[in-house]
Amino acid sequence: MASKTKGSSLACFYERSIAKVAARAVYYLLILADIEMEKEFNVDCRCYCGVHCVLKTSWTDENLGRRFLGCPNYRDGGGCNYFDWIDPPISNRKKSTFLSLLRRNESSEVRQHRIENKLEFVEGEMHMLRADVDRLEVERQSLEENLRTLEQKYKFVVYVLIAVVCYSVGRSIVS
Ligand SMILES: [Zn+2]
Repeated sequence: MASKTKGSSLACFYERSIAKVAARAVYYLLILADIEMEKEFNVDCRCYCGVHCVLKTSWTDENLGRRFLGCPNYRDGGGCNYFDWIDPPISNRKKSTFLSLLRRNESSEVRQHRIENKLEFVEGEMHMLRADVDRLEVERQSLEENLRTLEQKYKFVVYVLIAVVCYSVGRSIVS
């Protein structure tokens, strides 16, 4: 039973890893494609400001991964609203596949962050426990030292008592 659970969680882990790798691969392929396209399109396209267009990728749910040419200064508050799609509209099937890949990737990243936070917390606890152990060790050493001193005092008192008893017995024998 336990091995079955372990096996299925391992399968889940591999499935998540594969989904993560696939989403990353798609993402990097898009970036690479962007770079290639940019080389190609930057030469001719100019926006209304008269500067070279930049190739961008839309990350909205409606046009996920769809590339377009736009003004390089659009997001800095300036620029113009020049806009031209490069890719055709994406089919709903591709859109939903890509969205689910991205969401799976996001959820596994969230899980990883949660595990990292827990790990950090456990490391902090361990650090505090180690400090406690060190403090207790110092206390133990000082208690041992006190015990040794008390033992010496006790021995001294016993020797004095023995001496007094011997002296008293000796005196009573003599008299
Ligand atoms: Zn412009």
